[in-house]
Amino acid sequence: MIVADKDGQGDYVKNSKGLVVVTGAGGFIGGSLVAALRARGCNSIRAVDLKPLEAWYQKSADVENLCLDLNLKENCEIAAKGAGQIYNLAANMGGMGFIENNKALCMLSVLINTHMLQAARKHGVERFFYASSACVYNADKQKTFEAPRLKEQDAYPAMAEDGYGWEKLFSERMCRHFREDYGLPTRVARFHNVYGPWGTWFGGREKAPAAICRKVIEAKTSGKHEIEIWGSGVQTRSFMFIDDCLKGIDLINDSEILEPINLGSSEAVTINQLVDLAEEFAGIKLNRKYNLHAPKGVNGRNSDNTLIRKYLNWEPDTPLRRGLEKTYRWIYDQYLARERGDAGVVRE
Ligand code: NAD
Repeated sequence: MIVADKDGQGDYVKNSKGLVVVTGAGGFIGGSLVAALRARGCNSIRAVDLKPLEAWYQKSADVENLCLDLNLKENCEIAAKGAGQIYNLAANMGGMGFIENNKALCMLSVLINTHMLQAARKHGVERFFYASSACVYNADKQKTFEAPRLKEQDAYPAMAEDGYGWEKLFSERMCRHFREDYGLPTRVARFHNVYGPWGTWFGGREKAPAAICRKVIEAKTSGKHEIEIWGSGVQTRSFMFIDDCLKGIDLINDSEILEPINLGSSEAVTINQLVDLAEEFAGIKLNRKYNLHAPKGVNGRNSDNTLIRKYLNWEPDTPLRRGLEKTYRWIYDQYLARERGDAGVVRE
């Protein structure tokens, strides 16, 4: 639990068992959460991920780092043992290109969530945070390009993103029923497109902000001033900077908000506007080629933040320009490091 101090920075206050478990800690948000917890004085952390340690984006020696496949029940038991708090962020996920082509794999994350909830219950965990997604929302409400603001109730009647979104919706409900039937204190946030440094930026799982920054950097460094954009470029989305995501996780986790709640920026932009920004940071203008056959997802989506403002008197507020510029600079450095043959993307 993080309790805000007078500087608004917050100090870590131990739950009664002390140990905090972060799953998916080798990935973007999980790795950043471990770093944030450490920075705030949490000194009993178990970080868990399927990936071998050398492939984690961020890792630290003063944390218990475990490489475990959490699809397996026995590994979830190892992960949950002794924990007071679990942040369950492990999942098979990626951008549209990944989730449209890997629906079965995305749905198999239900094994992680089922076994982690069972293990948390067995070990008497005091708080269980689950990372859901805006992909749970009904597709019919996202047909217009005018960035419809999705309220929490718009997840029903259910018509989630095929594969990934249905798994998230199901696992949200499992969290609810473990809370209601077994008394496991669960909290659920629906993340809307998170971006920032220390995230996936190449390889096929990257999401739009990182993919666009990388493509602009490639065009700049190669001198071939052209970019392929997936879809017509007029699809709308909102993008939340990682610092806002981490703050929101803390606030929701420590709150009495029992139902799934949006955690996203409400600053909607078109994909073309995202490209405009990346071009501006690079100081170039590119010839845009639109690939209308590439995976592109729903036409429009934005986060309705009425509920989070009401409960927390706060909403994600980092302007896209500011967050994206930091992300662009970070990807640029990673890109150059990779070109030189350095490992790049790992923070120790
Ligand atoms: P990420 O892919 O960077 O991290 C997920 C991590 O989970 C990976 O490191 C992966 O190796 C690990 N993992 C996958 N299967 C595993 C298994 N069987 N056992 C153990 N570890 C396993 O993704 P992220 O962006 O950090 O996302 C974290 C969570 O937030 C996920 O649940 C994701 O669905 C959710 N989410 C993210 C976004 C976003 O925009 N990044 C949006 C909505 C929801």
